[in-house]
Amino acid sequence: MGAEAQGLVMALEANFCRVQLEQPGPGGEEVLLCVRRTRLGKTGQQICVGDRVRLEGIDWPERRGAVAAVAPRTSLLERPAVANCSRVVVVVALAQPELDPLQLTRFLLTAERTGVAVELVLTKADLLSEEQRQHWCQRLQSWGYRPLLVSAHRGEGITALRRRLSQPGIAVLCGPSGVGKSSLINALVPQLALRVASVSGRLQRGRHTTRHVELFPLAVGALLADTPGFNRPDLPREASELAVLFPEIRQRLAEGICRFKNCLHQGDPGCAVGEAWDRHPLYLACLEAALAQPGPGRERLELGVKQRGSRREPRLDQRLRQPSRRRLRQSEPGEE
Ligand code: GDP
Ligand code: ZN
Repeated sequence: MGAEAQGLVMALEANFCRVQLEQPGPGGEEVLLCVRRTRLGKTGQQICVGDRVRLEGIDWPERRGAVAAVAPRTSLLERPAVANCSRVVVVVALAQPELDPLQLTRFLLTAERTGVAVELVLTKADLLSEEQRQHWCQRLQSWGYRPLLVSAHRGEGITALRRRLSQPGIAVLCGPSGVGKSSLINALVPQLALRVASVSGRLQRGRHTTRHVELFPLAVGALLADTPGFNRPDLPREASELAVLFPEIRQRLAEGICRFKNCLHQGDPGCAVGEAWDRHPLYLACLEAALAQPGPGRERLELGVKQRGSRREPRLDQRLRQPSRRRLRQSEPGEE
């Protein structure tokens, strides 16, 4: 049979990939187990979870097919390898471990560098007083985010988070270890918690038996990767790239223009960004760290960063109008 179809790669399993069809097959088939055609292998094209693929040679009764082509990707995360991710959810705890604004900033910068939408989730809300929660909410709003407070233990905020992630596209959670990412993923994807529970009484152990990333539906068209993404933040290679990764700087630059085109916003006269904002000291700390990075090693460090556009863009104001689609480079393995 020579039937063709389009679908989305939900999981990789040995030599097969599990593909969710865009349109159900003639018998209502929704998922096919597909092999890769060798010519895909010859062009060196790797299939990732999240890839949109064209299938051919479909055998409907057997629910089998073959991947004939992979559509161009809008983004590619590594560890876990997820193509076409449209949302990175930065997860940090309000307590245990205590929220560290500099660490959170570094995670946010890493997330912003992917070029996809960034969400901020604050876990373990049950450990804080209402006053403390308000303090953090207001502070992080001034950073340009809409933080969502959740408690996996009390089930608080889970519905709101699911709603926020229920937009078409693929979401990946990231953040430091121990903040409750796995608990959150299990709360968001009940099938996963059930599956894990049947594998092992200990959730972490169970999850580790799943070596590959897999996508789970949260709502129609909305998918969540079952494995957290990067757990080590990574600063941009160039100091001039840092500013656009701060929403509050972006906003200030949209309202005013610095006197110097290549302004690093260090508080000099004529700088539209100024110093009167909460993260200014953190920005300076990150700037210093970015400037301290050795120059000649940059290209080497860029390895692993997949980009669609050109690496350098001439002007900051242009960059602001057309946000960078920089891909994410992950310095360390995720904690899958
Ligand atoms: P991960 O390393 O980010 O995946 O974090 P885990 O999901 O493994 O959770 C780390 C620890 O935080 C575990 O001991 C959890 O029981 C605890 N934890 C997770 N969510 C919450 C929460 O909402 N409230 C509190 N108090 N503890 C939590
Ligand atoms: Zn400036």
